[in-house]
Formats: sequence, C-alpha cells, structure tokens
Amino acid sequence: MDFTIPEEFVMLKKMVRKFTENEIMPLEMTVIEREADRGFEAISSIPPEEEKKILAKAKDLGLWGIDVPEEHGGQGLGMLAKMLVEEEMSRSICWIFLPPDSPNLDFLASSCKPHQYDDYLLPYSRGEKTSALALTEANAGSDAAGIQLRADRKGDKWVLNGTKLWISFGPKADFFIVIAVTDKVKKQRGGFTAFLVDKGTPGFTILRNIPCIGDMLVYELLLEDVVLDDSKVLGEVGQAFVPLQNRLGVRRIELAAKCCGAATRCMELMLTQARVRETFGSPIGDRQFVQGMIADSTAEIHATRLMVYHAASKYDSGEKDLRVEGAMTKVYGTEMLQRVSDKAIQMHGALGLSKEMVLEYIYRMCRVWRIVEGPSEIHRWLTARQIIRSEKPYETILGML
Ligand SMILES: Cc1cc2nc3c(=O)[nH]c(=O)nc-3n(C[C@H](O)[C@H](O)[C@H](O)COP(=O)(O)OP(=O)(O)OC[C@H]3O[C@@H](n4cnc5c(N)ncnc54)[C@H](O)[C@@H]3O)c2cc1C
Repeated sequence: MDFTIPEEFVMLKKMVRKFTENEIMPLEMTVIEREADRGFEAISSIPPEEEKKILAKAKDLGLWGIDVPEEHGGQGLGMLAKMLVEEEMSRSICWIFLPPDSPNLDFLASSCKPHQYDDYLLPYSRGEKTSALALTEANAGSDAAGIQLRADRKGDKWVLNGTKLWISFGPKADFFIVIAVTDKVKKQRGGFTAFLVDKGTPGFTILRNIPCIGDMLVYELLLEDVVLDDSKVLGEVGQAFVPLQNRLGVRRIELAAKCCGAATRCMELMLTQARVRETFGSPIGDRQFVQGMIADSTAEIHATRLMVYHAASKYDSGEKDLRVEGAMTKVYGTEMLQRVSDKAIQMHGALGLSKEMVLEYIYRMCRVWRIVEGPSEIHRWLTARQIIRSEKPYETILGML
C-alpha cells in the first residue's frame, strides 16, 4: 500500500498554498465585513471584481479544468488533484469556485449527448458557462424521491411546471440541471429525468433569494409552462437517478476536502495560540486540556484527509459508485470541522468569537455543511444500509479486503 502523493501533485498543492496565502487570504476582512453588512440582501461576500481578478490569476496558474478529461479540453489530472487544490484553497474563508464545478462536470460528462457538447459540456469545461443543480423542493429534500416538479409530454415537446427551493448559485448560473418527474409511478426508478434549462428560458424565474446562515446565497425557482424540446434532455428519459447520485457523491467528497482545508486553518491558529498565549505564568499549550484539543484535532483532520484521498483515488481509478465513501466521508468531515472549529474558538476565548478572526465564520459555515447535500442522519443511514445489506465482509465495500 502506497500513501505517497505523486510529486507533481505535491508541487501543485504547494503552489496553491502560496496562491491562497498571497492572493486570497488578504481579502478575508473584506469578506467578513461584507457578510456582516449585507443583512437580507443577496450580495456576494467577495467583491465581484476581486473574484474576477483571482479567477484570472488562477487561470494563468493553470488551475482551471484540473479534473476535466483531456478529450474535453481539460488537464485530465483527475479528482485527487482537484481535491488537493480544493483543500488548500479552503484554508481561506473566501470561497472561490474554480471552473468548472466538479459535481456538475461529472453529471455532464457522463450524460451529455454529442449535440449538447458545444452548448454545454465544452463551454462548461472551459469555464465559459456556469451551472446549478435544481433538485430540492419545499416538500422533498432528504427524501428526493418526493419531488413534484413535472415534465409532461405535449406533442413533441416537454412542458415543465413546479418550483425548486434552496438552490445555490441562482442568478450566477447560465444553465440549470433541473430534475423533473416524467413518470409519477416509477419516480426515482425510471421516472426522473434531467433537463438543461437555460437562464432566460420563457417561464423560468428566480423568484427570490432566501437569507441563510453563513456565506450562503440560496434561491427559490419557479418553472411555469417551460417548453423544452428533446435536445434539452440530459441523459436518457427517466434515468436521471444514477448520474444524479454519482454527482452528489462527488460534491460530498469535495465538501470533506474543503473541511480538511478549513480545519487545517483552525489548527494553525490553535498552534500559534498554544505557543503565544500565556495565563498563570505559562503558555496555554503547556496545559493538558489544551494539548488534548490539539491531539484530537490532529488525528481527526488526518483521518478525514485519508478518507478524502482514498475516495478520490478510487474515483480516478474508474470507480464511479462512491455512495458509501461519499456518505461516510461527508459526515465525518463536516462533523470533524464542527468539532475542530469549536475547539479553536474555545482556545481563543473572546477573540475566537469575534469578527476579528476567521474562526466564528468557519464555525457558522460548517453548520451549513452538515445539512446541505444531505443531512448527516441520511448519510449515516445510507452507509449502514449498504453495509448491512451486503453479504460480504464490510471492509470489501471500501476496498480494504
Ligand atoms: C445553503 C444550502 C444550499 C443548497 N443548495 C442546493 C442546491 O444547489 N440544489 C439543490 O437541489 N438543493 C440544495 N440545497 C438543499 C439541500 O440539499 C437540502 O436542504 C437537504 O438535502 C435537506 O433537505 P431538507 O432541508 O428538506 O430537510 P428535510 O429532508 O426536511 O430533513 C430535516 C431533518 O430531518 C431529519 N431527517 C430527515 N429524514 C431522516 C431520516 N430518514 N432519518 C433520520 N433523520 C431524518 C434530519 O435531521 C434532517 O436534517 C441547499 C440547502 C442549503 C441549506
């Protein structure tokens, strides 16, 4: 068993670390202030012009299209490379999405038909178009099988009607992958279809933004008699569920990678604090309670990192069904970050709670991550169900036996 990260990926990781420290972290106080000031408005916390500049620099450094297959014009470095980059960039609280966003890339790459390459897959891969996934509805979140948004066949067209809720990116997206019911009886087993809906399509409206904890901007969408032809069906009619699950798996592993980056930042701050903050005549790092916080955090971050790298390596070796890895890694990573950021705040006392540091920001942000892309309870259930159902030793599911 070889746990060595390839040399070129180590160089990539170090380069992104520098980039994050020199170009992204200096924006953090601006982000904290903008987030505090915006109230209920849907104003991005990173000034758009700064985001543009950072993205342009990232492009010059070759950070776009890392995991895009070479045949689609990308670098073909795979998921492990992308996760290492995501991890490093998430040491900063300024969220920069490197084009293209990996989960929808996975969906498009697995499901686009040749006639959709030029309009969707290629511009998306090159970072010229952005997208969003519209799955969740008011009465169907964890239980996505309960979605109601309909796509009815009328003549040679599809007519979509319904609403979607809690959708990220909203106005930023050029197109949406909308999951609709095409067969009420079959539902997720042959009755869900993915449609490509362009911004500006008649009948498609972003109804409102919904103020939310942390640095999240989410939206409600309305589709009212949206007429689409067959060219807008992504994948096969009725067969959206499997590519959707695979796509969700990619996001879950990516979220855990982000948690590793944010937790590493917390750790770095904890170490400085342990060394420099003195009480009762000695550094707090001399106290066993404080040492316990550092020791536990070190182990938890390392465990998450190994889980992420392992899952990403499996993906790169062609394994697309990462349901268990995705579920398990997401729960562990997001809950790990909650614990580590909580300890980091504790060690910093009042300063840790203040907006003069990034810790309270990370603490609120990771609360979101325990619900978004499926709550922890669902992922625990999915993990256990897969393992209980399997008649093989459970380690085989994870490729460990
Ligand atoms: C910031 C943010 C961004 C999002 N972005 C998107 C997006 O871009 N696209 C999109 O489609 N969706 C998006 N979502 C929706 C998100 O995926 C859902 O919120 C999530 O899946 C949970 O669904 P729900 O909120 O309806 O909670 P519910 O399904 O109502 O669940 C509520 C709670 O009930 C409990 N629970 C539910 N079922 C079970 C069970 N079987 N066993 C044990 N406990 C259970 C859990 O504690 C759970 O947290 C976003 C949400 C947020 C908050």
